Amino acid sequence: MLAIEQCPVCQGPGDWYTDRGDYKIFRCTNCTLFYTSPVPDAEELKTLYRDEWSVPAGQTYIHRRKLTRAWRLGLRARKLRRLSSGNSLLEIGCGPGDFLRGARAAGFTTIVGVEPGDGEAEYARSLGFEICNQMFLEVDFADARFDVIVSRQVIEHVPDPIEFLTTAAALLRPGGCIMLETPCSSHFKARLAGKDWRYLWPPWHLNLFNEKSFAALFEKCGLEAVFFRRHLRKTYVTAVARLASDSCHIYDVGQHDAASLTAGNRD
Ligand SMILES: [Zn+2]
Repeated sequence: MLAIEQCPVCQGPGDWYTDRGDYKIFRCTNCTLFYTSPVPDAEELKTLYRDEWSVPAGQTYIHRRKLTRAWRLGLRARKLRRLSSGNSLLEIGCGPGDFLRGARAAGFTTIVGVEPGDGEAEYARSLGFEICNQMFLEVDFADARFDVIVSRQVIEHVPDPIEFLTTAAALLRPGGCIMLETPCSSHFKARLAGKDWRYLWPPWHLNLFNEKSFAALFEKCGLEAVFFRRHLRKTYVTAVARLASDSCHIYDVGQHDAASLTAGNRD
């Protein structure tokens, strides 16, 4: 386990907020992130997610099919496709491939999932998807780049959000976007629950974000927010961001790059 001395996003000081067993939860006085100390190291994290969280190898993953859920995820994938300039999508933490199915229905033609759980990865592969059955930071993407990167209910589990999101941002194509979805610490349900908020749940949940802490994270990772959306029914926030360099990119590119950008926008 690793002790965390300061906010893992903005490096600001934190006030003690509450305890969960041996874990202490702090609230950053600067960016308002809830962060945990101690956190699992890389090997402990791998053990947690490959052996305890996920369906182990050799056991069949039982998938609950919900038609309305598939329809809603397809709708969201369509919105992301309209925001980006191409047809490739990566999902980090794809589970059994629910969102990947939505992405396929939305017309994405290159679809890759990362999923450390063996049972979930096997199920997603059975649906015809290319799945990297590893922890995200261990995947060698070589020169693969993506127009859309999605990660739902993952960043709250990550000990070092800057390392995670910088690595993801490096896989984005110019003009692409990244969507993160996570429990929202400023949601009215979270405020009502206070210290009893069930998403304060180490060692599974280590960092809990809101719009302000997301903005601080994006700045550290060379991204800028496109929009935030709080969910009503679930205590979640969705954040969509793009490369900050995209803001000036359109004015900086040479003739060749401009042509390829235009070509990429034809869809
Ligand atoms: Zn902070």
